[in-house]
Order: sequence, then structure tokens, then C-alpha cells
Amino acid sequence: MGEERCRHEELEFLGSQRTEGGENLYFRCKRCGDVIIILPGGKGGYVVRGLKPSARQ
Ligand SMILES: [Zn+2]
Repeated sequence: MGEERCRHEELEFLGSQRTEGGENLYFRCKRCGDVIIILPGGKGGYVVRGLKPSARQ
């Protein structure tokens, strides 16, 4: 399937969302299309996969 690990080095800022703990920041990787969510307060972040705008096989 040619699934390679992407290091998400080219990020596009999508926006932010207010939450109870602060503000989440949303980025999208220009290379793979994954969405990276940065949590407030230095808690780190996580990656949402499968949101590619154009699915190629
Ligand atoms: Zn990526």
C-alpha cells in the first residue's frame, strides 16, 4: 500500500478552537494530509489520520 511514515514537517495552520482548558490549534500536513492537533498548556498533541482531501490508491 506504500504507507510511509511522514514527519509532518510542512504544516498549514487551519485554525483554533476554544476549549475548557484553553485553545486547541489545528494544523494540516501539506505532504500527507494528516491533521495535527496541538493541545493547550503544553500537554502535547495528537494526529488525526484519514482526512486526506484526495484519496489516491
Ligand atoms: Zn505528514
